[in-house]
Amino acid sequence: MNYLSTRGDPTPKRFCEILLEGLAPDGGLYLPAAYPQVDDATLTRWRGLSYADLAFEILSLYIDDIPAADLKALVAKTYTADVFGTEAIVPVRRLGDSGLWIEALSNGPTLAFKDMAMQLLGHLFEYELGRRGESLNILGATSGDTGSAAEYAMRGKVGVRVFMLSPHGRMSPFQQAQMFSLQDENIHNIAVEGVFDDAQDIVKAVSNDLAFKRAQKIGTVNSINWARLLAQVVYYFAGYFQVTRSNAEVVSFTVPSGNFGNVCAGHVARMMGLPIKHLVVATNENDVLDEFFRTGTYRVRKGAETHETSSPSMDISKASNFERFVFDLLGRDASRTRELFGAHIERQGGFTLSADEFQRIAGFGFQSGKSTHADRLATIRSTWERHATMVDTHTADGVKVATERVEPNVPMIVLETALPAKFAETIREALGREPGRPAKLEGIEQLPKRFTVMPPDVARVKAYIAEHTGLA
Ligand SMILES: *Cc1c(COP(=O)(O)O)cnc(C)c1O
Repeated sequence: MNYLSTRGDPTPKRFCEILLEGLAPDGGLYLPAAYPQVDDATLTRWRGLSYADLAFEILSLYIDDIPAADLKALVAKTYTADVFGTEAIVPVRRLGDSGLWIEALSNGPTLAFKDMAMQLLGHLFEYELGRRGESLNILGATSGDTGSAAEYAMRGKVGVRVFMLSPHGRMSPFQQAQMFSLQDENIHNIAVEGVFDDAQDIVKAVSNDLAFKRAQKIGTVNSINWARLLAQVVYYFAGYFQVTRSNAEVVSFTVPSGNFGNVCAGHVARMMGLPIKHLVVATNENDVLDEFFRTGTYRVRKGAETHETSSPSMDISKASNFERFVFDLLGRDASRTRELFGAHIERQGGFTLSADEFQRIAGFGFQSGKSTHADRLATIRSTWERHATMVDTHTADGVKVATERVEPNVPMIVLETALPAKFAETIREALGREPGRPAKLEGIEQLPKRFTVMPPDVARVKAYIAEHTGLA
C-alpha cells in the first residue's frame, strides 16, 4: 500500500516512512492511495475475532512493510484486557429503548479514547526505531488529554523520549497527577508559566528551527498521524459487530469531535465498505464543523473566538484532520484541495464549497449537530436518571446530538470518548455527586510528582531538551 499527500506530492510512500512524519512535505496530509474493500465474506469472518485479531486484519490491509508475525505481536501486546480493562476492549452498552448505544473507548490508561491509538503508536515507534537503530524525541504541548495519552504510550519505550509542555497550574488536579506522577526517565514534563497557547507557541518555535529539530531528532505525535487514524478504524468495525447480528444491518455513529481525527476514522471504515448509514459529527460551542456540514462554509476561528468549554478536548479553532475528508469529497482532486486549504485559508481564513461540491456530502453519510454547556448538564442528568449511566461531558455532547439524529431501526452508536472521572467538576454541577473512579487511579493526586517549571522562554526549553537528549 502506497500513501499520497492530499496536496498532490507525487512521491509514493510506504507506511513506515510516514509513521514517524507529520505533514507531507507539501503541507498536505497522508492518505492511502486507495481504500481496501471488505466484502460480505470478510465481514463474516471478522465477526468472531478478538479485538487484537481484528486490528491485525485491518492494519495488515494498510501496512505491508512490517512482517505479518511482527505486526501480529505488536497488536497483541497493545490490545489486552490488562491495559483496556475488558476482553472486549471497546464494550458496547445499550441505553434502554432510546435506540442509542454507547461504545466505550475510554478504559485505557488515561481514561480517554486517545489511548486506543496512542498505545499502538508507542509499540510501533519502539519497533520501527529499533529496526532503524534510531531514536526520537517527541515534543508536544498539551492542555490535558493528548499529552497524557502520549506519555502513557511512550513511557519506558526504548529509543523514545517525550518532552511535554503544559500550562503551569492550569490543568485539573487529576490531569496533573496523571502526567506528573510518571517517574519514567524518558518522560519529561515541562510546566510553562503561561497559558496553553504559550506552550504551543514554544513548540512551534522549536519545530521551526530546522537545524535544532534535526540535530535533536525532534518529532511529534499529533492527531494528523496516519497510524493513529488507522488504529481508530478498528473500533468502528468492533462496535458494528457487537450491535448487529448480520451484515445486512446498518448502523450510524455519533462522534464527539474536535480535530476530526476520530470521525475521520469512521469515514475510512465506511469507505472500506462497513455498513454505516450516518456519521454524525457532534461539536460543542466551538462549532466550526457543524457550521461546515450545515452550510458548506469552513471558517477557521480566531483565538478570541475559541470558547473554553466544559468539554475542553473539543475546543478547537480549526480541525486539523478535516483536509483528509475534503480531499475525498472533492474526488481526490489535489489541486482543488491545495487551493482551499492553502490559498483560501491563508488569505481569507476559510472557504466555501461550490453548490455542486456541497451536495456530495450526503453521499458520504455525514450529518452534524451542536451542544452547549446547558445541553451537556441536561444530558448528563437525563442519561443518569433514565438509564443509570454516567457519561462524561464530551460523550454528553455526543448523546445530545445523537438523540436528535437517531432513526427507527438504525442503531445509533455514540462513541464514549472519556470517563466522567476526568471531568468531576461538571459532573458535580449536573448531578451533585462525585463520579466513580477506576480502582487503579484512587489516590493518584497523592503520588509524588516529577516535573520542571519554566518561564515561557524558547531558549530555556531548547537548552533543557539538548541537556536531556545528550545530542550535540
Ligand atoms: C481528543 C478528544 C476528542 C476529539 O477528538 P478528535 O479526534 O480531535 O475529533 C473528543 N473527546 C475527548 C475526550 C478527547 O480527548
